[in-house]
Amino acid sequence: MYDFDVLVLGSGPGGQKAAIAAAKLDRRVALVERRHMIGGVCINTGTIPSKTLREAVLYLTGLSQREMYGQSYRLKDDITVGDLAARTQHVIGREVDVIRSQLVRNRVQLITGTGRFHDPHTIVVAQGEGGDHKVSAEKIIVAAGTRPARPGSVDFDDRTIIDSDGILRLDHVPRSMVVVGAGVIGIEYASMFAALGTKVTVVERRERMLEFCDLEVVEALKYHLRDLQVTFRFNETVASVERHPRGALALLESGKQIAADTVMYSAGRQGMADHLELENAGLTCDDRGRIPVDENFRTAAPHIYAVGDIIGFPALASTSMEQGRLAAHHACGEPAHEVQAIHPIGIYSIPEISFVGRTEDELTADRVPFEVGLARYRELARGQIIGDSYGMLKLLVSPTDRTLLGVHIFGTNATELVHIGQTVMGCGGTVDYLVDAVFNYPTLAESYKVAALDATNKMRSVARLRD
Ligand SMILES: Cc1cc2nc3c(=O)[nH]c(=O)nc-3n(C[C@H](O)[C@H](O)[C@H](O)COP(=O)(O)OP(=O)(O)OC[C@H]3O[C@@H](n4cnc5c(N)ncnc54)[C@H](O)[C@@H]3O)c2cc1C
Repeated sequence: MYDFDVLVLGSGPGGQKAAIAAAKLDRRVALVERRHMIGGVCINTGTIPSKTLREAVLYLTGLSQREMYGQSYRLKDDITVGDLAARTQHVIGREVDVIRSQLVRNRVQLITGTGRFHDPHTIVVAQGEGGDHKVSAEKIIVAAGTRPARPGSVDFDDRTIIDSDGILRLDHVPRSMVVVGAGVIGIEYASMFAALGTKVTVVERRERMLEFCDLEVVEALKYHLRDLQVTFRFNETVASVERHPRGALALLESGKQIAADTVMYSAGRQGMADHLELENAGLTCDDRGRIPVDENFRTAAPHIYAVGDIIGFPALASTSMEQGRLAAHHACGEPAHEVQAIHPIGIYSIPEISFVGRTEDELTADRVPFEVGLARYRELARGQIIGDSYGMLKLLVSPTDRTLLGVHIFGTNATELVHIGQTVMGCGGTVDYLVDAVFNYPTLAESYKVAALDATNKMRSVARLRD
């Protein structure tokens, strides 16, 4: 009756994993994606290019080696956009190949074009000169993602005044940059350009940044970024930006003026639902282009699912993939678990941050007692070997049942290390597991044992006084 059992709109992490999961369950699956966008925002303009750029910056500037070889150490003196773009384009190309091949191997039919709803079971795919093409499916999974939000008052020109997509099209490394918005994307790019030697000013309307992270970790990051000449302007709002032949002038509501080669807006993201003619399927979205869903990622029409950034928080590639897989399983009547409540957050600033579980502030606000166990990289042999003297790992431990309430890491490999804590937490383990475990030596993972010993020693001191 329908052309396909499952039709997926968008090939980002959510759409990709949904399509593959449905194909593995022997469904006839089609995936609609716009030209040159295989892999979505994740592969083409977001996660992968930004993380590759970061790696290129760290390597070429030699920043992570300077504790060893001196502050003037760098691999290349005059780093160009070409140097950075070469690595990014290489990785994007490889990743697109991997995704294409996975879709082909799993017999997912790729339909190139821009989709929109014709009726609740039919998508019209606009294929440019190829005209419009209708495809129907029993189940539809919308994974159309987001685009950078552009405040109407700002005159973006993709050269001087840009959004995060524009970073990848810069033709030179700017000497100065204003980053508007100290969210994750703003701070990641602020770190990279500061490492390249750009004079960065971050303007943030709120009084602090990354407020969902551990305060001590954020303070450490601010210290490091200031060391790279970053200026922070908190409690400040950019009223307007003037474009001039030799740069831009950001005018703050407080009356300050900041001159810069480039102004980058990182003002959140807008869901792509506004282009989907949702009304033809009896659906609506909010003013930020997001589609509401239930716990199984079903929209108001039970045969239409939505996953990934288009449903809003947490809007990560990592969570979008899992949502896609779970939605496909639900759509195909396959038993599926819920998304695990404990998921890690990674921020690829320089240095990087990662955490899982709750923060000290959250626990204190909820009057949940906790003990802190701390390990500093400079006290680990591996920290000395790699020249990371600033990194740290903090465990928040319940003195009541000795479970881990949170793990917060700052420094080299934070985004990898966090998974050890996540696993212990997910399996209901206690701090005693980490005390008793033997870790490879010398490693950064050893920081778990050091922090666990620190926490248990403190808990023992309290217990002794009570005895
Ligand atoms: C600069 C940046 C850095 C990031 N870093 C990280 C990170 O380090 N870690 C992390 O986990 N997440 C990161 N993210 C977030 C991550 O990229 C997103 O969460 C993820 O890409 C969302 O996946 P998605 O499946 O919702 O779809 P997206 O990746 O947004 O892709 C959606 C796809 O749908 C297609 N589409 C839209 N409308 C239509 C239509 N009408 N017809 C056909 N196709 C359509 C688009 O072309 C696009 O390819 C970052 C994002 C940005 C912008």
